[in-house]
Amino acid sequence: MKKVALITGSTRGIGHHLAEAFAEKGYAIMLNGLEENGQEIADKMADKFNVSVKFSGANLRDPEAANKMVEETIDYFGRIDVLINNAGIQYVSPVKDFPVDKWQAIIDINLSSTFHTSKAAWKQMEEQHFGRIINIASAHGLRASAYKSAYVAAKHGVVGLTKVLALEGAGHNITCNAICPGYVKTPLVEGQIRDQAAAHGISEEEVISKIMLAKHAVKEFVPENLLAKAALFLASEEATTLTGVSLPIEGAWTVQ
Ligand code: NAD
Repeated sequence: MKKVALITGSTRGIGHHLAEAFAEKGYAIMLNGLEENGQEIADKMADKFNVSVKFSGANLRDPEAANKMVEETIDYFGRIDVLINNAGIQYVSPVKDFPVDKWQAIIDINLSSTFHTSKAAWKQMEEQHFGRIINIASAHGLRASAYKSAYVAAKHGVVGLTKVLALEGAGHNITCNAICPGYVKTPLVEGQIRDQAAAHGISEEEVISKIMLAKHAVKEFVPENLLAKAALFLASEEATTLTGVSLPIEGAWTVQ
């Protein structure tokens, strides 16, 4: 039986890397994201790994769209084994100037969509007596940084939700865990590097060494393939008792 993984925000960045890693292991994939060429990205992945890949352009700010995407996954593939809640956005500003619409968008996409998709997948996972929910939180689910009020609040919320779903999934073989990466060099972070260099009047190299990797004891970006290996491990059959954990993969940032 082919296993099915739905990965939100998987048209680029970490989510895309995770989708490729699961496709490589033979999972059928429901790809999601806002990139206009999402269907093309899905077709390429299907060809590359010889698996079934379906694309949903659901905008996860909308709970109805999130529900529909999960329904489509179950209707099309007949099951849903792995749900990776990865879609996320960032906005950086002092709290006194933080735009209310940016606050709401970050809470909707980074936190609430995780609730909506998990809720929508739950019944099917219970019926299958198998489910693996993996939330891509952040080191910012465990630690704060100034000027990231909405992001830090949302990611701490994801860590809390992860614990609740682990408790409710116990007895149904539904596990729920979070992965908490440090900095990963994706389009999201490349945008931040450019913005911070402009804001502070320093070079991009200085942003990387003095601002970003300053938090990591290991002065390296987190490689995406390490996150993929962790997700595959959390998704495995034998990981039944590995649940409710928020796994930091952040070069020993949060031990400090
Ligand atoms: P990215 O910007 O490169 O990719 C984000 C993906 O989410 C894209 O596919 C985008 O289309 C999708 N997306 C955004 N808004 C959406 C919406 N409303 N509906 C549906 N899809 C939407 O970002 P990334 O760096 O790959 O980050 C992925 C996740 O990892 C995020 O949750 C982020 O908070 C988390 N994270 C990233 C880092 C990092 O350093 N890059 C560190 C820790 C945690």
